[in-house]
Amino acid sequence: MVNPATPASAKPAVEELVGPPALEVPAEAEPDATERLPAPVPAAVVVKDVEQTPWQRQSIRATGVEIVGDSCRQRSFPEPQRRWRHIQHTVLPGETAEEIAARYGTKKASLRRSNDGKLKLVPGKSIKVYASRTPAPRRRIEHVSADGEDWTAVATKYKVRYRELRAWNRGVGSTLGPGRTLVVYIDDDRPQTVNAVRGPAVPEIRVRDGAISTGRPQRGKITNAVRLPESTLYTLKVPQHAYGSSHAIRTHLEAIAQFRYASGYDGQLIIGGLSRRRGRTFKPHKSHQSGRDIDIFLPILPHVAFTYSPNPHEVDWEASFELARAFAATGRTEAIYLDRKVQRFLYEAGRNMGVSLEELDRLIEFPPRPGKDPSASAVRHSADHVRHFHIRIECADNEPDCYNERWDERHTEIMKRKRLADKEREAKKKRRSRRRNR
Ligand SMILES: [Zn+2]
Repeated sequence: MVNPATPASAKPAVEELVGPPALEVPAEAEPDATERLPAPVPAAVVVKDVEQTPWQRQSIRATGVEIVGDSCRQRSFPEPQRRWRHIQHTVLPGETAEEIAARYGTKKASLRRSNDGKLKLVPGKSIKVYASRTPAPRRRIEHVSADGEDWTAVATKYKVRYRELRAWNRGVGSTLGPGRTLVVYIDDDRPQTVNAVRGPAVPEIRVRDGAISTGRPQRGKITNAVRLPESTLYTLKVPQHAYGSSHAIRTHLEAIAQFRYASGYDGQLIIGGLSRRRGRTFKPHKSHQSGRDIDIFLPILPHVAFTYSPNPHEVDWEASFELARAFAATGRTEAIYLDRKVQRFLYEAGRNMGVSLEELDRLIEFPPRPGKDPSASAVRHSADHVRHFHIRIECADNEPDCYNERWDERHTEIMKRKRLADKEREAKKKRRSRRRNR
């Protein structure tokens, strides 16, 4: 409701309320361009102040968690210096519409519109792209394979994806002998979001003890739960769904803070559901009941417009890799669930970052190989986890009734303990009745 009799003194304050910045209209756009600008980005742009507001200080009392000195500045999405322009893109062999769209910071639907609704990808032919990002064209080089070099080695050497490399060299068989000339397209304009600079110092994290996980993630509860507070380290999607055990919340915070510090990643990190305050059923999730689970959306590339459902080419796999790595490094992560369909992206990001095969084996289930135990790796398959990591923290030592499956060791122990206690109770009863009968 607008009050027509607003005093003049209130006017400037109203004018200061600025809406989301209007998307820049490209200067280069042809006057007859029929292309419409994409829909405005949702208000996911979060740049938080270092100083805590009184509201936040109050929430610390409510959550049982305090983060002292978190000073992360989450970069806004998408990159502010976007300039939309019309360009021509020459299609590479094997290139998909999703890949092209992601590269130029646009969507598949826009690509189709730019090409009069007929999007035919023919290698060597060019298509029109209305791009928000104009990377330098890829450099074409020729590589002569050395003795003992395989496809993966060549892909890693040039930081390209295995599938791309094979597509660029269709005629060459799967076993690569020495002396084969391969075509490689090198992208010098790949966005680098991790490992260029160190991030902010790791803040001090205090978590109240006594939030205890009981039962299984699929049928369990939390007593005395603590909650992830608002922080500059991440963006909470639904604060009411961010409860967990002390052990789990501490681990999440330490892993994320370490990830920010070590990788220098300053993009937005969005936290989905954890557990409800008392745990128990949390639809639509099957688990998330005992305060040990967290869903973290995979980071997206800086030039991609914000979305909760990016395609794999829009995901920042290098940042995702560093995030998984930080969680695994705590030694308290039970599993990081990610669909097998996209594990290859994570694996290849790791390889291209120069991570050793031993570490990759420990970290990711992919690639399947005879004799490899998938449950020995931190990142494991779970269907439909293509846009987020579902991370489960192990039970703490002070959580005697926390377990995973009815058939696991921990549960056997719990049952044994219960049987022993029952027996003892029986014996006590007997002794008492005997004494009474004497
Ligand atoms: Zn989940």
